Order: sequence, then C-alpha cells, then structure tokens
Amino acid sequence: MHLSSNVSSLEPSATLAVAALCKQLRAEGRDILDLSVGEPDFRTPDFAAQAGIAAIVQGFTQYTPVPGIPALREMIAQHLERMAGRPVDPATVVVTAGAKQALFNACFVLFGEGEDVLLPGPYWTSYPELIRLARATPTVVLAQPEQQFKVTVADLDAATTSRTRGIILNSPSNPTGVIYSLPELDAIVRWAAERNLWIISDEVYGRLAFDSDRAPSVLDLDDALLERCIYISGASKAFAMTGWRIGFSQSPLPYANAMSALQSHITSNPSTPAQYAALAVFRDEPRVEHAVKAMVGVFRRRLAKALEALAVHLPAARVVPPAGAFYILVQVDAYYRPGIENSIAFCKWLLDEAGVALVPGTAFGDDRFVRLSFAAPEAEIAEAIRRIGVAVAKTVAASP
Ligand code: PLP
Repeated sequence: MHLSSNVSSLEPSATLAVAALCKQLRAEGRDILDLSVGEPDFRTPDFAAQAGIAAIVQGFTQYTPVPGIPALREMIAQHLERMAGRPVDPATVVVTAGAKQALFNACFVLFGEGEDVLLPGPYWTSYPELIRLARATPTVVLAQPEQQFKVTVADLDAATTSRTRGIILNSPSNPTGVIYSLPELDAIVRWAAERNLWIISDEVYGRLAFDSDRAPSVLDLDDALLERCIYISGASKAFAMTGWRIGFSQSPLPYANAMSALQSHITSNPSTPAQYAALAVFRDEPRVEHAVKAMVGVFRRRLAKALEALAVHLPAARVVPPAGAFYILVQVDAYYRPGIENSIAFCKWLLDEAGVALVPGTAFGDDRFVRLSFAAPEAEIAEAIRRIGVAVAKTVAASP
C-alpha cells in the first residue's frame, strides 16, 4: 500500500479504537464493562432533538453558509457574551462539524512546516496528530501528578525555541480533568502574548466543572490578551450532543475568515439539521441549564464513588482527583509485571482478564497511566473497579 506523506505516520485515534474493540467483544457475547467512553451517557435534550427533526421535516436540508447559519452564529456569540461579559461579533464565530474540526481548522490555519507547537501533557490523544497534519511538530511539556498535571510558565518557557509558534491549552482537561484557575490561565496567556505565540484554548468541557458553574476561560482575560487566541468549544459534551457534530471556534476576524475558507473546501457547512438542533439549545439556554447542572451533579457523585472504590480495590494506584470533565487518570505502573509492562499491555490484559475497558496512557503521552471514564452508570463503575482489583490482586499474589 502506498500512502502519502500526509498520513503515512498518522496514528488512528486510540480512544475510538478501544471503543470499537469493546463493541466487537460485546457483539461476540462477552460481558464487557466499558470505562473507555469519551461521551456523556445522557440523552440530547428532547427539545433540541425535536428541533433537529423539525428542521428535516420543514426542508432545512440544504447547504448553509460555510461558517454556519447566521442565527446560530448570533446565538453562540450571545452565549459567549453572557459567559464572558464582553461583546462578541458573530462574524468571528465559525460553526464546525464538532470541536474536532474547529481544532483541525485552527491548527491548519496557524501552524506549518518547520514550526513547533507546545502541547502540555498528558494531552488529548488527537492533538499531536492534528499538529502533525498541519506539518508542524508537537513539543510535549509533560506535567507530573505532583504538580496536579498543570504546566507552569517556567515549564513552557524551558521548552520554547525560536521555532515555537503556539500552544494548545485544554481546561478542563481530557484526560486529567484538571482545571486551570484564572490566575494560572492569565499567567500562561500573558507569557504567550509577550512571545507572540498563538493560543488555541479547547474548552469543550468548560461546563463540566465540579466546584463552580463553569471552568475559568480565556474569554475571562483582558481583551489585549486575546489578539492571538482561538477559543474552541461546542455542543457535544455539555449538551450530550456528540453525534450531532456541532462545535465552533471564536477568534480574531481574519482568522475566522481563513478557517471558514479552509472549511469551504473540506466539509462545507456542518450538517444543516444538526445546526438547527444546536440553535434550539443556544437560543434557549435556561431550558438546558437544569439538564447541564443535573448531569454535572451525577458526574460529581460518580466521581466520589469511583475515587472511594479505587482507594479500596487498587491501593497502589495514584490519582489526582479531577476538577472537571468525566475522566480519572489513574497511575497504575505499580501493578506492571513481566508480560504486563506498559499501559497497552495492562489494558489488553484487563480487557481479557476482567472484561473492563480502559484507555492506555500512551494515548495521552504518559505510559504510567490508564484513563478511566465515569460516563457510565454508577453500578458499572463500581463493578468495573472491583473487577480490576480482583484481577490485579491475582497478579500481585502470583508475582515472586
Ligand atoms: N477536545 C477534547 C479535549 C475532547 O476530549 C474531544 C472529544 O473527545 C473533542 C475536543 C472533540 O469534540 P467533538 O466531539 O465536538 O468533536
């Protein structure tokens, strides 16, 4: 097979690969508890689903303007205005096929050959590939659990060279659940602005914060700091709309125009009925407010249970309790053994031995960890962690 240099070293998404394997094993009749999932196990709010159906029935099934229907861009701009207390021009909003496409657009428009992009790790699995697709090079700045998985300005500064062009921030983070405080964000963005670096701030989990209504955002910072900043979010995680594929970016106008031009040649507009479903949500946010809060409440309860269960069943594992999103990055290297020497081997063995699916830490840049998602019913999470404990205890007992 001959593949172009564009994709010859591209790794498929590890998280989606685990999800596919789980589905396959279940289809074969195996009892699999899937804690690898990257999407809320909640239904799309009914009124949003109905708006999508109505759009189809009423014939809103043709192309729309590339950056999205004007009403949706207007409502997203108003949503951002309410959130950040500053005017937002709808022309600076580009609606995309999921936040993933907004990230692709941003990387492709900002970065290129011979340029480096700082990537705080552990990182979401798609970032390095998105940077490489733009022919730039990721420079991973790995944060340790001892620093709560947060990089500092000093860490970033040490990794910066004359080739460095930008940084991707992700708070709340997938996979660590870490949330940068406003002063921490301010310090990083200020530092980046002084060096003329671009910031791509992926805040797709922004509403899923356990100690406040939302995580601090780059949009909370001074105007002057946002001149080289692309904010990214979407409907997928907060509104349980992953399959609708609606995300968006907000950025300085020339870059919004460039991303729209890029998108015009790749996907044109995001799915038309899905835009109408998202419009219903952004037009009537108070209606979803209750559902979002209820979902976050459920995640908070599950997190507490999962942490309790981990302490009981995996006493040698270490965790930094997440402040948002729905993942726990669990340090399991204390359980590595001959034959189970890394996170991939650990996850394969666990799937086989205990019927539990987790995602190996290599997918996020640190092989000492596995990612456990609590976007699953509480009883399944408890049972999965119990099973992991039983499996691990057996290997510990069998070790010399
Ligand atoms: N950013 C992060 C950090 C994610 O975890 C995900 C999905 O898992 C995305 C972006 C993509 O979101 P979407 O489904 O809207 O493309």
